[in-house]
Amino acid sequence: MLDKNGPGPRDHPEGLGLSFLARDLVKTPSACQHPHRADVMKILLVEDSYLERHKVGAYLTEWGLDHVAVGSGTEAVKLLEAPEPPNLVLLDWMLPGLDGIDVCRRIRKFPSGGAYIYIVMLTAKNRKQDLLKAMEAGADDYLAKPVDPSELRARILVGKRILELQQSLCFAATHDFLTNLLNRAEILAALQREFSRSGREDKPATVILADIDHFKRVNDTLGHAAGDEVLKEVAKRLKSDLRLYDVVGRYGGEEFLIILPGCDVTVGARRANEIRNLVGKDPIQTPFGTTSVTVSMGVTVTSSTRDHSISDFLHEADVSMYAAKKNGRNRVEVFSAASQHAGFGQG
Ligand SMILES: [Mg+2]
Repeated sequence: MLDKNGPGPRDHPEGLGLSFLARDLVKTPSACQHPHRADVMKILLVEDSYLERHKVGAYLTEWGLDHVAVGSGTEAVKLLEAPEPPNLVLLDWMLPGLDGIDVCRRIRKFPSGGAYIYIVMLTAKNRKQDLLKAMEAGADDYLAKPVDPSELRARILVGKRILELQQSLCFAATHDFLTNLLNRAEILAALQREFSRSGREDKPATVILADIDHFKRVNDTLGHAAGDEVLKEVAKRLKSDLRLYDVVGRYGGEEFLIILPGCDVTVGARRANEIRNLVGKDPIQTPFGTTSVTVSMGVTVTSSTRDHSISDFLHEADVSMYAAKKNGRNRVEVFSAASQHAGFGQG
């Protein structure tokens, strides 16, 4: 999700100083990268011998593989615990301090939810019990030293294939197949995390429920295939204005949930309006005809001073979204206790 090379999301002034949020998000399954991304693999070479490190590093450079090299197990663990860690490790067994086996065991104890780290142990040991020990500690493969370039390249190819498979599975399990947004379970998990953090750090988070207006009409007039195209395009537009640590998911059929960490109700309502404008601004072209859609949005905000649960906040967003429908659609309504008492939740 963090792409240093590609264009970043727009920087909103209220987002300054909130980079810690991105750090937390990359430790979650929602961070599963799209498997078709080019930068699926980043290599960490851990080797205390300067000569070996330079030799293997030179092969990786020659093959155009993105990598970093360190000379100790301690440095390796530090890098692997940081955000966006390398996901393929070429790990020397004999190292000063933490050795390769220690590093393997540490990696396998990382909390689940982070991306899988594939480990190739580099070793001069070739007794069968040694190899078994490495595999038991968590290594995926091993390579005899001195390293032979063809063999190294073969092992890296296998690792890349496994990582791609793992990312495809992870992405499929956490994302909506049609829109590529987070699926319902994942956006609710993200809301739970955000809710907990909001309480812990005493920072608000805006929750927006967006529903496409008269979506049934699109299906009825242009057909369900056109409806799918509209859902995809709306998802794209919803996502286009978000910051790195905002999250959006498909909540139901034509309903989307957006979480804006750190945004109080004023900022949240303003951003909801900007997103609403963006969705409705241009017509949507589909192979079955052109159409225009708008969204109605309900906005609420989490706060540590309110004794509420996730389902209370979802209910508030829902009540406000129905208020937006009742008040003419293509608009944003912010939750207030008054709107609930007015019975807008019944629509
Ligand atoms: Mg060594």
